[in-house]
Amino acid sequence: MTSETKRFHCVSCGECCRYIDIIEGLKDLHINGVCKFLVDDKCSIYDKRPSLCRYDAVYEMFKDKISLKAYDEMVMHYCQQLQDLKKERIHQ
Ligand code: SF4
Repeated sequence: MTSETKRFHCVSCGECCRYIDIIEGLKDLHINGVCKFLVDDKCSIYDKRPSLCRYDAVYEMFKDKISLKAYDEMVMHYCQQLQDLKKERIHQ
């Protein structure tokens, strides 16, 4: 890691595991968009989850193209959108 500080903190809500059909490397894992390993909103293979599910591993793939700060802000942005979708889903 660089001297930049990571601010994103995963709250383990499982929302990002509900729309994986749009992620090329995870397409084989979904049923109607939801990862088949998501059980009670938790990853049932957490310690063995794919690299694409790991914040640090994904950053390693793009660290030559994006700063940690920008990556962190992007993750927080999309996480917030997922939280908003969750609120809509719960209130339907
Ligand atoms: S493998 Fe685990 S972390 Fe990755 S999308 Fe599925 S439930 Fe989520």
